[in-house]
Amino acid sequence: MDLMADIEILKGVGPKTAEVLKKYGIRTVRDFFYNLPRDYENYEQPTSIAEIRPGKVVIKGKIDSLATRRARRRNLSVTEGIIKDDSGSIKVVWFNQGYRVRQFEAGKEYYFSGNFELRNGRYSLVTPSAVLASDVNPLSGLNPVYVAHGTLKSHDFKRLLHNSRDKFATIPDLLPTVKSGTRKDALFFAHFPNSLQSAEKARDYLAYEELFELILAAKLNRQENNKLKAIQIPFQNEAVKKFVKGLPFQLTVAQRRAAWEIIQDMEKKAPMNRLLQGDVGSGKTVVAAMAAFETVLAGVQVALLAPTAILANQHYENLKKLLEPFKITVALLTGATKNKKNLKDNIKNGQINFVIGTHALLTDDTEFKRLGLVIIDEQHRFGVEQRQKLMLKSPNKLAPHLLAMTATPIPRSLQLTLFGDLDVSILNELPKGRQPITTKIITEIETRAELYPKMEQVLRAGQQIYWVCKAINDDPRTETTSVKVRCEKLKKIFPKMRIEFLHGRMKPAEKDTIMEAFSSGEIQILVSTTVIEVGVDVPNATMMVIEDAEEYGLAQLHQLRGRVGRGLVASSCYLMTKGEMAPSRRLKELKKSTDGFYLAEVDLRMRGPGEIYGALQHGALDLRIASLTNTKLIHRAQIDVDKFLQNPENILKYKELMQGITKYQQITTLN
Ligand code: ADP
Ligand code: MG
Repeated sequence: MDLMADIEILKGVGPKTAEVLKKYGIRTVRDFFYNLPRDYENYEQPTSIAEIRPGKVVIKGKIDSLATRRARRRNLSVTEGIIKDDSGSIKVVWFNQGYRVRQFEAGKEYYFSGNFELRNGRYSLVTPSAVLASDVNPLSGLNPVYVAHGTLKSHDFKRLLHNSRDKFATIPDLLPTVKSGTRKDALFFAHFPNSLQSAEKARDYLAYEELFELILAAKLNRQENNKLKAIQIPFQNEAVKKFVKGLPFQLTVAQRRAAWEIIQDMEKKAPMNRLLQGDVGSGKTVVAAMAAFETVLAGVQVALLAPTAILANQHYENLKKLLEPFKITVALLTGATKNKKNLKDNIKNGQINFVIGTHALLTDDTEFKRLGLVIIDEQHRFGVEQRQKLMLKSPNKLAPHLLAMTATPIPRSLQLTLFGDLDVSILNELPKGRQPITTKIITEIETRAELYPKMEQVLRAGQQIYWVCKAINDDPRTETTSVKVRCEKLKKIFPKMRIEFLHGRMKPAEKDTIMEAFSSGEIQILVSTTVIEVGVDVPNATMMVIEDAEEYGLAQLHQLRGRVGRGLVASSCYLMTKGEMAPSRRLKELKKSTDGFYLAEVDLRMRGPGEIYGALQHGALDLRIASLTNTKLIHRAQIDVDKFLQNPENILKYKELMQGITKYQQITTLN
């Protein structure tokens, strides 16, 4: 069986089906076999209707009558009917699932799985899932469920897999050193489990395989990086001391440690490849400034890439203040920069020591005389290609040192795998004197009573407020309030205050004007979308309201909240929710803790690595199944990868493995 063959060679896959599959990234036989079930429904022991009890139940029966009606409440359709088995009958009900009326074939048996509960004074089976009984493996009672891809539903995947059932036996192993089982069995039992245990065992095997690939990719990256040559930056003890003395504050221990790690890296022949990780407000900028300072002293240039013009501006202002006293020329290059030509000439001839910019830095006509250090702020905001573009701007085949910064704390388990051997410096300590942020969850209804007086108080003290909304414009289909509408409403409540809105679709110059006015205190309330999420630093802003807080992920909420609590006054953050639902675990965790690393672990456990990774870096990491919280399995895979790499012939021998990891190599690298 050639796993790399086109899916069209599979029985039952015609051109039409192939087109849909390919649209969803399933191109080869391998992709198809690795498209694993999302879940297994367990229909092992259905309850007979006569013995049914309230709670979660599985029953097997036929649909007797089914009809849909409009409920009194707008936008709600109710589909109701009767399910019968030999022992009796019960009521079944679905909401807004009108298609159910057409789903059931007369006389056929189905499994139903759902909650049997009291509704309007009568017990019913409420919104159960339903599958054709003949679709369920009769031996195990398990029904694998596949994610629907366009017109291809779970059922279609099962049919296609069934057609290829005999092909599994010829699948060769991918890895040299797996002790527990074979790949062909693992893939087979993942799709055709004969018990839950066999499915779990299969998935363990495949998870291990995946971790192995990921870790191997990371280690190969490290090997490749070590083959590159960089411009060595000598450590200048006296000058660095002077720089530190001139700072308006004392560096934290964590900042000193990180700076020292960077300085040592840059002395080496191979380029530095380091991630500086620190919670919002932990002071990454000054650490980056020290690296830039040393680099310029060595006669080499520095480039800093920031994801937004707002951030680039802010970095420019801060870094200029820190570096210009040492006769370092700092420049800003964004889309809004006037006379770019002149500036680019000066970058090329070396007059500019340190250029800070946005994507505008990446254009081909931005050339450097000698680029020795690239700093990337909020590195996950950039794609691999974008980062590489900047890295390649160093002439003479010398690779610049790379310092990537992120405020998204990476849980330790992810660090071990994804960033396998990456060098990481962590700022796990906030500068002294920071006031804690109080977080409160309130409903929309409480807003008036609780929030407005509090806002009044903050404004009267001369402090400022962020108000975060999800949407730019009002959308009648959703109930979220947009920045524009919220801004108008707040203007009515606080008529004496200057209130403006900010969002990502405004022109850069407009955004800058608003941001500057907020920075300087002319604007008291800034109503904004998440564009303020990254990096913005206005210490006088001491209060934040996040509307529709349930709409955001934990990591993002934490980032947003980090915009306040940056000054010497205690700050507060209000998480506003709609309706009367109890707040989610996410919001409760956020209220409980301000420790980014703790919240990242919680987030990882709650949402899985895909989501986290999305927040971490561009390009999705589609781990099919591996749990990045499974440190035991990770550890085993690491040991096995090291063994694998000890024999260089392996790299030639295991072709499929090596092909498969190129995608991982792309995402586990920083440069
Ligand atoms: P982030 O890590 O979020 O990028 P910044 O570098 O923007 O944080 O720093 C946040 C604020 O803290 C800035 O105003 C900066 O000047 C200040 N700061 C940085 N280091 C210290 C320190 N050691 N002591 C006091 N303030 C500091
Ligand atoms: Mg920052």
